Amino acid sequence: MNDCVFCRIASGEIPATIVKRTPEAVAFRDLNPQAPVHVLVIPTQHVDSAAQATGDAGEALLGKTMRLAVEVAHDLGLDGPGYRLVANTGVDGGQSVPHFHLHLLGGRRMDWPPG
Ligand code: AMP
Repeated sequence: MNDCVFCRIASGEIPATIVKRTPEAVAFRDLNPQAPVHVLVIPTQHVDSAAQATGDAGEALLGKTMRLAVEVAHDLGLDGPGYRLVANTGVDGGQSVPHFHLHLLGGRRMDWPPG
């Protein structure tokens, strides 16, 4: 989608600090980090949210996005201390960019419940 900021990052049209990329997903640093490690992991293909990722193709999209998040967590040394993966969804979930994304947060102890 031309007007989607994350699609434009995936295509290279908007600069971002890319951490890792596969043909199906891209991981890049969040502009406004909420933890010492704050990486966003998105599918290259646009879906507004996980609910739109249907059928076998949707299952692959979600799985490959999650797989990249787990790989990046490993690469950044977070397996031992742990980390949090978050998918804010819709208004109540606090989603501000309507392109499905996982927040990978680490490097500090997380609170629960979230705000
Ligand atoms: P959410 O509120 O869950 O939709 O998360 C959107 C995230 O995208 C926020 O944490 C923003 O800081 C981040 N963000 C928005 N625009 C950019 C950008 N151009 N590059 C990197 N991160 C961005």
